[in-house]
Amino acid sequence: MIISLKRMLAQANKKNYAVGAYNINNMEFVQAVVSASEKMNSPAIISTTEGAIRYAGMPYLKTLVYTAAAHTKIPITFHLDHGRDFTVIKQAIKAGYSSIMYDGSHLPFKENVRNTAKVVRWAHKKGVSVEGELGTIGGAEDLVSSREIIYTDPDTAKEFVEKTGVDALAIAIGTSHGAYKFSSTPTLDIARLKTIKKLTKLPLVLHGASEVPQYLVRQANRYGATLGKARGVPDAQIRQAVKHGINKVNEDTDLRLAFLASTRKTLVKQPSVFDPRKILGPARDYVQKIVEDRIKLLGSKGKA
Ligand SMILES: [Zn+2]
Repeated sequence: MIISLKRMLAQANKKNYAVGAYNINNMEFVQAVVSASEKMNSPAIISTTEGAIRYAGMPYLKTLVYTAAAHTKIPITFHLDHGRDFTVIKQAIKAGYSSIMYDGSHLPFKENVRNTAKVVRWAHKKGVSVEGELGTIGGAEDLVSSREIIYTDPDTAKEFVEKTGVDALAIAIGTSHGAYKFSSTPTLDIARLKTIKKLTKLPLVLHGASEVPQYLVRQANRYGATLGKARGVPDAQIRQAVKHGINKVNEDTDLRLAFLASTRKTLVKQPSVFDPRKILGPARDYVQKIVEDRIKLLGSKGKA
C-alpha cells in the first residue's frame, strides 16, 4: 500500500521513532529495501531524486515502486527527494508520488516560503504530502550541493511551517551530505533540534546522516576503490536525534557504499564472471543488510 508521508510519520512523531527514506535508482535497490522492511516488519519511504528520474525515467521508477507496494503488506511512501524543478514536481504529483520534498533551502527565506507554499497547494489537492527544507545541509548529493552548513533557526522554522503548511521539515543541525562529511567526529546540535520540535511539533527530517560503515569503506578500498577517509555520523548521535524529534532519516550514501563494496569484491575475486545477476545479486544482499541495520537504529522495527 502506498501512503502519504503525513500518514507515515504521524505515528513516528507520537512514538518517537524515525522511518528511513531510501534513495533508489533501479530494481535491485527497491527489492533490497522492501525485503529488509518485510524482515523487520518496518514501514519504508522509497525516494527518488531528480537525478534518479533523469537516469531511469519516472515511468520506470513508478512501476518499480508500485509493483513493490502491490506485493508487500508493509506501508510504503513514494517520495521525491530534493525536488527543485516545478515541472518535475508537477509530473511527480500527477504520476502518483505520495510525497514531495520541495528544496528551497538555497533561496532567500521569502522566496523559499512562496515556492514551498505553492507546492503545498498543488500537492495537498491530491492528498500528497510535502517536506520543506530550512537551513543548509552541507556537502554534495546527486544534483544538490552546498559548501557550508547554515543551522536552522528555531523561530524562523516556526514561521516557515505556519506560512507554508508543510507536513514535514528538513532541518540543518550539523549533518552533511555524501561520504566525506567531516574531518572529525561531528556533534549534532540536539538543543536546537529540541527547540525546533517544541515550536513546530512537526515530523522533522535529517539529511546527510549516513553512518559510512568503515567495514564497507575498507572492503571497497581493498578491492581497488580510492575512498580515502570517508566518515559519517556515529549511531549514538542518530539515536539522540531520533529521541528528540527526528522522524525521517534519508539514506543514500550507505546503500551506495554497500553496493560498491560488494560489486568490487565480486569483480576482483571472480574475474571470469560475466552474468550481471552474479554481480548484482550479492550487491542486493549487501544493500538489504544495511537497510536492516538502519531500521534497527531508527526504531521503526515492528512498526509496519
Ligand atoms: Zn538530502
